[in-house]
Amino acid sequence: MDQDRTTYLIVPHADRARARALGAQYDGVIKRWIVPPGAGVPLAAFAPWLPPVLSALRRGVVQARAVPARKPKPVTNKQCARCLCEKPVADFGLDRTMKDGRRSLCKPCRLESCREWRRANPDIFRASKAKYRRAHADAEKARKTAYRLARRKQRDAAMTAHAFQRVSVNVHA
Ligand SMILES: [Zn+2]
Repeated sequence: MDQDRTTYLIVPHADRARARALGAQYDGVIKRWIVPPGAGVPLAAFAPWLPPVLSALRRGVVQARAVPARKPKPVTNKQCARCLCEKPVADFGLDRTMKDGRRSLCKPCRLESCREWRRANPDIFRASKAKYRRAHADAEKARKTAYRLARRKQRDAAMTAHAFQRVSVNVHA
């Protein structure tokens, strides 16, 4: 069965090469493994990496309506893998690929760890930023135009104020 829509995969680090060989791609913009539409490979080939519900649907094991809503885990605290502090789960970012749906690093640690990674991999970071910009070129253009207009308005207002001040100084002199 070929597919006309993008399929999202959960590919563990160790499986990357295998998934790529089958035609899966890593989309750096959305940071997800995908099977692009019309890849020409049956989805069944990607079975190990299909999200659990989708995988069960494809296998015909469950009907769409029979999928039970995922119960929220009763976990309230979690230990950060970096600072080793025990913190409320709300202090951990969301991550659907994790068993408990949360990242393993707390938010401050995650920030720090991302910062370190960027510092250690400036080239990859720069390339991914450029890729993001290309993918969002229109929004970027709109943002720049808006910024230019705002700056012009600010400049005009400043010049008007300046001129007004000079006129009033002259009047008072
Ligand atoms: Zn932490």
